Amino acid sequence: HHVQLSPEKLVQALCQADDVDAQMSQLVQLFELSESERRLRHLLVTLFQEVFSEFFPGCAILPFGSSVNGFDIHGCDLDLFLDLEKTKTFQASAKGLQGAQAEEGAGPDSDSEDSILSDIDLTTATVPEVLELVAAVLRKCVPGVHSVQAVHSARRPVVKFCHKDSGLLGDISINNRLALCNTRFLQLCTEADERVRPLVYVLRYWAKQQALAGNPFGGGPLLNNYALTLLVLFFLQTRNPPALPTLAQLRELTGDGDQAIVDGWDCSFPQDASRLEPSANMESLCSLLAEFFRVFGDHDFAGCVISLQEGRALPLPSFLLSEVGAKFKLGPFNVQDPFELSHNVAANVNEKIVQRFQHCCRDGAKYCRSLQYQRKSSKGKAWGLVRLFQPGVPEAGELGPDGLLITIPFTLMALSPGSRQQLCQARDFGRCWFDKVCAAITVVLKDVLKCSCTGPAGEPLGQEPTEQSGAEQPIVGSKHPRSEERGSLVVSPAKKRPRVEGPAPEEEESVSWSCAVWHRVWMGRRRVRRQLRHLGSPQPDTEQEAGSLEVEEKVSEAIIQQEGDSMGAEPLLRFTACARMGGGQEDTRTLLYFTPAPQQGPLFQDFYHFLQGFLPRMVERYVGRAA
Ligand code: ATP
Ligand code: MG
Repeated sequence: HHVQLSPEKLVQALCQADDVDAQMSQLVQLFELSESERRLRHLLVTLFQEVFSEFFPGCAILPFGSSVNGFDIHGCDLDLFLDLEKTKTFQASAKGLQGAQAEEGAGPDSDSEDSILSDIDLTTATVPEVLELVAAVLRKCVPGVHSVQAVHSARRPVVKFCHKDSGLLGDISINNRLALCNTRFLQLCTEADERVRPLVYVLRYWAKQQALAGNPFGGGPLLNNYALTLLVLFFLQTRNPPALPTLAQLRELTGDGDQAIVDGWDCSFPQDASRLEPSANMESLCSLLAEFFRVFGDHDFAGCVISLQEGRALPLPSFLLSEVGAKFKLGPFNVQDPFELSHNVAANVNEKIVQRFQHCCRDGAKYCRSLQYQRKSSKGKAWGLVRLFQPGVPEAGELGPDGLLITIPFTLMALSPGSRQQLCQARDFGRCWFDKVCAAITVVLKDVLKCSCTGPAGEPLGQEPTEQSGAEQPIVGSKHPRSEERGSLVVSPAKKRPRVEGPAPEEEESVSWSCAVWHRVWMGRRRVRRQLRHLGSPQPDTEQEAGSLEVEEKVSEAIIQQEGDSMGAEPLLRFTACARMGGGQEDTRTLLYFTPAPQQGPLFQDFYHFLQGFLPRMVERYVGRAA
């Protein structure tokens, strides 16, 4: 078990460092796997190897991805490759032998060959067939593993599983030998230059905080960690002088024993970093990070292809005419795989995310020019990396055109094991958790903060089960809201896209609420909570900050009562809130954008700051309880 690092602890640790370079090294130390976590992974790999060898003689279980590429973080998934090459050969020769013996009429004791292999011919079996077999072995024969599920839809089909005791998630793939090469390549880069790890860790965390990257396996428009890492390596290749060699240069340095062709692609590079010349680049981590933001804030991602092979951005026209270019899936973000040259590793990224990426880079570049970035605060203020990691919330007072953002986490671990498993296995996992969070938001705005709901055109509120639909009068525009409910807010779902059947849709889903606030329900809640406690209402949690949903509902009612009849004909505030899914299957955050109606700045800010703390906490309670 690992203890998840709390954001507060991270901020504290970073603020204590001496300079930005030290902050960056500190970040690696805080995030990387501990010795015991590594040992657990190693033990699991050994266990898998033992079990699978029984069924697939000669097979090998080989870890790849972040567990071994040098960019591990607490709780990262365990990517495994099941190499069945030797097993195929074994099976083929055994068959030949059996056939010959059968003709001679002297069969071997066929009972000992009760191997699963007798059911399948590995040379002719399809990938889904083999994966189902792998899934069956995992389910039946590997102790301590649950939620086993074959996912055939991904570009690289996998069998997913969860290790019960550690909560570790993993997947096994069978046709992904190239991933072993690129894993080794990433590893080599970390060995070649010690600045690689800190820079990648920082940018991975930054991108995660800005909701630009997640770990989507199976769709989603965000950058995945692999693509982002390649972008950082490319950046280092293109410094002057370069901080990393290109793959073309690495190929020149390859020894005879290290030549490799995988799936037709040349994957030759030295296995030993000591073959590389030390780089002449002497830039500090602090300035490399600032430069990364500066360079990519203005990079034309759609107009060229980022090539680690050549260490330069290839202009589109000539690239498209090349043999690999013809098969390359062009998009708004084009990063060529270092080995599989016709593969765009960022083909899933959509236009909007690229725009936001660039916007965030430009913000980052601007911040990096300030003294707050470069110098440790003597007054204990946030400095250096810390402010870069603040989630994508605009500065206080800056009500941007996109509104304000509250990020609401949804942690699978908050659910009971049973409902977690159920959710993980749902065909439409993304919609499932997102629906839960949206239902929770509705309950918090409407029931806990005492509001009534309508749509601008009187639309019913989707199919959230928490709604007693029809109970409220649709209230449109500025008509008096004091209908059935003494609402302090009017919440209305403005738009909900039709539910899409099947796997998560390419496009981002969103749900909106139009809200009007009629009472100052955000003010003096702590005092009212204390009063209620004295009156002997049900005991709230000992926690000072907030009680249960029921207690909080009572608190709102009391505030409204204390306000008396001061409610005007116009609401105090109007705003819309729009929820979007954070990203891929593993990024289960909801991004809730707020757009206040014009001209209600200061009051809205108070309310918004209250919601920032209140809403995520209440949503978590609601979701946890519903589970
Ligand atoms: P983390 O699991 O912490 O997000 P990771 O490096 O393991 O980081 P994964 O998304 O789990 O990233 O991918 C594991 C491996 O699968 C990568 O190291 C890479 O080899 C391969 N891979 C992932 N995404 C792609 C992609 N878009 N194109 C090609 N290969 C990919
Ligand atoms: Mg991984």
